[in-house]
Amino acid sequence: MEEIFDTAILGAGPAGICAAIYAARAGLKALWLDGKFVPGGQIQDAYRVDNYPGFPGISGIELGETLGNHAGKLGMTPLCETVTAIESPWEPVKAICTRKHRYLTRTVILASGATHRKLGIPGEEDFEGMGVSYCAACDGAFFRGRTVAVVGGGNVAAGDAVFLAGLCKKVYVVHRRDALRAEKGEQERLFACENVEMVWDSTAQKIIGQDQVTGLQVWNVKTGEERCLEVDGVFVAVGTRPQTKLAEDFLELDEAGYIPAGEDCVTHVPGIFAAGDIRGKNLRQVVTAMADGANAVYSAQRYLTGVTK
Ligand code: NAP
Repeated sequence: MEEIFDTAILGAGPAGICAAIYAARAGLKALWLDGKFVPGGQIQDAYRVDNYPGFPGISGIELGETLGNHAGKLGMTPLCETVTAIESPWEPVKAICTRKHRYLTRTVILASGATHRKLGIPGEEDFEGMGVSYCAACDGAFFRGRTVAVVGGGNVAAGDAVFLAGLCKKVYVVHRRDALRAEKGEQERLFACENVEMVWDSTAQKIIGQDQVTGLQVWNVKTGEERCLEVDGVFVAVGTRPQTKLAEDFLELDEAGYIPAGEDCVTHVPGIFAAGDIRGKNLRQVVTAMADGANAVYSAQRYLTGVTK
């Protein structure tokens, strides 16, 4: 008879890793899949994580590795396979399809996280990898001693700008308002960097270059003034977009594109749970994603044993 898993965990970011740890400890027969070889998800892109309790200032890569090793010690390692479809989601046994396999499972924990949002301006696509980057921790070193712009005003933009200020001659931070969304501590670190120039109330209009980026055209929304920043690189840090494509045929999304589910991660499809950055919630952090991973497994266990209240 074909093997049927108790649960399939899709994604190996903090939510998926935590779900894998809890599933292992609960003795569930779990399938764990991620499209990438290295666990960690978005934290792999963070040069520094300062609010994960117990690990102040840890690099994203090290945190991802530490979490992945914890799961590994419990016998859990994600299979590197990209999921292409979830079949028969409403049935008691669902199928998870990848290019190579079709797995059967009684529950699914969707923990596929989020991906970088783009600016959608001229030049962005043309110069991706040739001066346009979405990951300062990955690409920052290519811009040592040069001038770059970071676009965005959240934690990621502020953190990236601080990191780049340590490598680059000059860093412009282009933000569409006159106040950052980033936490106070991140803001203080940013404003203390002498080679950072804030470009307030400004939107990025066009990325300019020949073979490589040479400039970023910005527009001041208050004065209407246009300016071209002479930069060698543009780091885009304007937030993330949930990766919900696999679930869109059977799950309704909220207005912002996230999967509606409470803290128990229960969706309106029996046996399907949503954990981490794809779930509609107020605060998207490593710790809240990990809490989701634990809650999703707890809810899956209750579903598997027929507990409904
Ligand atoms: P974010 O907090 O959503 O901030 C996105 C920033 O980009 C905002 O300042 C926003 O401007 C700006 N923006 C959005 N669309 C734009 C556009 N089209 N043009 C120009 N600017 C635009 O995103 P994030 O900094 O990438 O962080 C993503 C999530 O990860 C957040 O929920 C964050 O809390 C979380 N995070 C967690 C940790 C951690 O757990 N340690 C670390 C970093 C980030 P406005 O401010 O005007 O809206």
